[in-house]
Amino acid sequence: MISKEFAKSQMERLSALKRFPFNAEAKRDLVKALMGAISEAHLALYIDNLVNYETECPPLSTIRTGLAEQGRQTQEALKACEVCGGSGFVVVRGRSTHDGLEVTAAKLCACRSFGQPIKREHDCPRCQGFGFYGGEIAGQYAGPWKWCDCVYGREKREREPELVAEANTAREKLIRRAISKPQDFKFKSLPQEESYYGEY
Ligand SMILES: [Zn+2]
Ligand SMILES: [Zn+2]
Repeated sequence: MISKEFAKSQMERLSALKRFPFNAEAKRDLVKALMGAISEAHLALYIDNLVNYETECPPLSTIRTGLAEQGRQTQEALKACEVCGGSGFVVVRGRSTHDGLEVTAAKLCACRSFGQPIKREHDCPRCQGFGFYGGEIAGQYAGPWKWCDCVYGREKREREPELVAEANTAREKLIRRAISKPQDFKFKSLPQEESYYGEY
């Protein structure tokens, strides 16, 4: 889904080309045509190609068919997505922050935002699609929260760049509250099962 603001910003990028419309109504039509792209990433890519390789702003009909063709090719490629099977949606389960009850919801598959099919191996066992992992005191993923390097991690990081740093600040506060001497926490001061094996 493309916001009007984003389509406008991309429309402005075309203003260096010849035949760019300066009439307000024609600009509105241009924005409307640009909103026909299947995602903001796809629109940005389409505009990249125009500003890099064209000298004239193409007519609306060319833009509409160009974006439709780009969309068709992408949908075709995404049929190979092993996460959503080409449907574009995955079912996610979580807890409502409102009443704590379990909820299920349909979520747009990450393949739609990236325009690339996702392989099952990237349907991430490490972060379960949350995009970050860790935060545990002991065990396989002991240590501070980290961004996962899977497709979900990249997506989440783009949307909420401060998330992991904030989670770690909160985590460190909890650890400090739990122990009086953080510098001793790592090795000696606690019984074995509560020892902290991760890195700071
Ligand atoms: Zn998918
Ligand atoms: Zn992951």
